[in-house]
Amino acid sequence: MRDASVHNPGPAADGDIHDVIIIGGGVNGCGIAMDAAGRGLKVLLCEQGDLASATSSRSSKLIHGGLRYLEFYQFRLVGKALAEREALLRNAPHIIWPMRFRLPHRPHLRPVWMIRLGLFLYDHLARRETLPSSTGLKFDGSSPLKPEITRGFEYSDAWVDDARLVVLTAQAAAQRGAQIKTRTACVEARRTDGLWQIVLEDRLTGQRSRHRSRALVNAGGPWAGELLASVIDTPVRRPLRLVKGSHIVVPRLHDGEESYILQNEDNRIVFVIPYEQEFSLIGTTDVDYQGDPAAASISPEETNYLLHVINNHFHQPLTHADIVWSYSGVRALFDGEGGAAQAASRDYLLDVHAQHGHPPLLSVLGGKITTYRRLAEEATDQLCELLNSPARAWTRDATLPGGDFRDHQSLLADLQKLYPWLPAATAQRFTRSYGTLTHELLQGARSMDDMGRHFGADLYAREVHYLIQTEWALTADDVLWRRTKLGLQLRAGAAAMLQDFMEIRSKWRKP
Ligand SMILES: Cc1cc2nc3c(=O)[nH]c(=O)nc-3n(C[C@H](O)[C@H](O)[C@H](O)COP(=O)(O)OP(=O)(O)OC[C@H]3O[C@@H](n4cnc5c(N)ncnc54)[C@H](O)[C@@H]3O)c2cc1C
Repeated sequence: MRDASVHNPGPAADGDIHDVIIIGGGVNGCGIAMDAAGRGLKVLLCEQGDLASATSSRSSKLIHGGLRYLEFYQFRLVGKALAEREALLRNAPHIIWPMRFRLPHRPHLRPVWMIRLGLFLYDHLARRETLPSSTGLKFDGSSPLKPEITRGFEYSDAWVDDARLVVLTAQAAAQRGAQIKTRTACVEARRTDGLWQIVLEDRLTGQRSRHRSRALVNAGGPWAGELLASVIDTPVRRPLRLVKGSHIVVPRLHDGEESYILQNEDNRIVFVIPYEQEFSLIGTTDVDYQGDPAAASISPEETNYLLHVINNHFHQPLTHADIVWSYSGVRALFDGEGGAAQAASRDYLLDVHAQHGHPPLLSVLGGKITTYRRLAEEATDQLCELLNSPARAWTRDATLPGGDFRDHQSLLADLQKLYPWLPAATAQRFTRSYGTLTHELLQGARSMDDMGRHFGADLYAREVHYLIQTEWALTADDVLWRRTKLGLQLRAGAAAMLQDFMEIRSKWRKP
């Protein structure tokens, strides 16, 4: 039988009143937590699973304006996203870096002059500080594409480790005083006596606790509608359209650091992105979705579709047997019902319920990882206004934890000087994951013996311990699929060994 306190959590656990409670530890919830905490607001964020366990770790991982949105005349969205691309490249150079994209030209595509015009617009819709502009291309015998594809284009965008972006943003929020509670679901939110009365449930113990806040943010991503209907008890004004997108991971399809953007006969596009050195990431699809977003997985039709697009473009044939991993995420799109899923806007909407005398509710609907900082800034501007707080926007030039270095090569050289015994590939992975925080991870280590128990690939106990202590990692999946992508490389059985180790270590986690 469950403890009585589970059903009756009693008075507010934290006597103090929060300014904002945020439901959802994806990129948008964490972005708002960081911005609001930095403006001096007292913030609590609850996430029912791990940070970034839903859509924010299942994206195509691009920081992009979205070249294809130009086809739908979404110039405002593209311009806004391109401006953010520059800010994010500056603020998180360890986990976000420039990438060139090759667009093969085939007969069913728009004429060359029109694509050139689109790329010119893409180059100029926002200021580019470092990224090179687009160019035309000729493919020769060394190209991985089919021999009949001889022409194309190349343009710039950027790549992001999406799950790490979320965790580092949560760290930045916590450094500024935000309370981040993972494995904690919001199960009830009611307006009483001018405040939000919130009930949270610890998903590990079942224990419930009561909290109060002056404002509530619903950043539940694909759960945002369900949260309104069943937890927050507020009418759903803008029904969300849920659209599943899936990716497959295969052994590396081509040499070189550039990605390919393939436009299919149905006008949809599929990216082929170099991934974790040895692999290519291929996606995505757009399929209307009903059901639990956490249960989304790739269907045989989606897999066949992705293989078909690749086999239409690349000369090396790809089959089901090549697929080493797949994942699916659910987009929450706010713009209406009907029409092709790929044509629905990827922009965001901040839906505010604020009646006089009632505590405000702000719901985040839609959005892209690329625009998360801007979304968070607009959301926090509105919260500050509603809460009569004068604090100003500050995140545009705010470096994320570990991102305070000049360039990647000098950071790597510094590390190799300080830790000459660390294998070069591991040093490279650490700089791309932790940036300057690598020094914290390796503090006091003098040889590989100090890295502790080995779990396979280049994962050692020291890194796992660091992730438990500083990045809210609790399970083997948190480490293998979100804090790192070492799940792609570890032998079967190693995950179970890691899970046992973490269960013991987590007991020693800092409160
Ligand atoms: C296939 C695909 C590809 C994409 N590619 C790109 C791309 O390349 N570039 C780009 O910019 N964008 C991309 N996007 C969009 C981007 O991933 C999303 O816009 C973004 O991740 C949404 O973040 P979020 O925080 O709103 O939602 P989520 O990341 O889903 O976070 C919501 C969180 O709320 C939590 N939650 C729900 N209910 C509760 C509750 N009751 N209590 C506590 N917590 C709760 C959930 O567990 C979840 O973690 C892509 C999306 C998809 C699906």
